[in-house]
Amino acid sequence: MDASCFDQPSCDAHSGEGFCQSERTKTLFEEIRASVKNNSDEDRSFWRPVLPWGGVYTIKAGRKAMACNPLYVRISLKNTCTIDGFLMLLYVILSENEYFPRELSNYLGKEFVERFLYLMDSYKFTTVKLLWIWDKMEKRQYKTKVHKASLEIDLFGNEHENFTKNLESLMSTIQESFCTNWRCRIRIQEDQHKTIIINCPQDPLLDDLIQAAVDEFFCSKIELCEEFGCVGQREFTQRIFCHGAPPFVILNMQQWKSEDLAYIPYYLAVAQQRYLLEGATLFNKEEHHYSAAFKIDGNWMHYDGLRTENLVLLNKPPELLLLSSLVYIRDIEK
Ligand SMILES: [Zn+2]
Repeated sequence: MDASCFDQPSCDAHSGEGFCQSERTKTLFEEIRASVKNNSDEDRSFWRPVLPWGGVYTIKAGRKAMACNPLYVRISLKNTCTIDGFLMLLYVILSENEYFPRELSNYLGKEFVERFLYLMDSYKFTTVKLLWIWDKMEKRQYKTKVHKASLEIDLFGNEHENFTKNLESLMSTIQESFCTNWRCRIRIQEDQHKTIIINCPQDPLLDDLIQAAVDEFFCSKIELCEEFGCVGQREFTQRIFCHGAPPFVILNMQQWKSEDLAYIPYYLAVAQQRYLLEGATLFNKEEHHYSAAFKIDGNWMHYDGLRTENLVLLNKPPELLLLSSLVYIRDIEK
């Protein structure tokens, strides 16, 4: 099925996600923003579940489909927490910054960005997940099986595999290196990455471990050449973004231990560009479950698709000790 099949701007009662466009005057983001503003201490949760875990999509059988016996009439999604938190963050980032949708269209496609925002604003949460799965993920990244009359799509796995890796060239960086030995078999090398995986620096006494780790990823350096039989030195240039500083970056923090995460910087210099902390995704190892935290108008919210009230306003910034990733947006004032 092509992604274009589910962008009808009408009620979608069949998939159980129907809220008529005419019933609403605000976007989902504006609703959340209003709910944050009007909240009282007793009620800190959003009034309607946002992007609940899983999802069921019912295929509307047309007259043609009646002629044969369809293999399945429903699509049910499982273990969607590997994409849910990031989809929520992506929605907040795109809604909060008026220039970002246009800019992100250069990476993810104009049609994708428009549909994504439309489906989120229409509360078509299963459909928006299917848009991501079919438009951005590769088949090998999820399991499918037909069970009774339903096609089951299981997204169990790692959120960096299921989400971060599928952001096209958004965070692509490149670093060149030259060996000083003229006889080196591979004098010039290029090292390209699609994601930003940072490791905790060896020196635990550094003031800002995360900034140091980002600097290490991007900075120029000289190392002994690793080419077999070569005695030269390899000079690495600064790492640069292939298409300029992206509107947001995701730092893969999977390798970090809680004790190294005592300090999370609000501002971060990434390849000479100033970035601002927007949110994080969290990983609970025991339950193998992901959730997310993000800011709206300076207030922190926690999102967990498995909870009934799945979007909660926090009293204070969350303790980000079980990090899977940190998400920073490009600061407008440089
Ligand atoms: Zn060499």
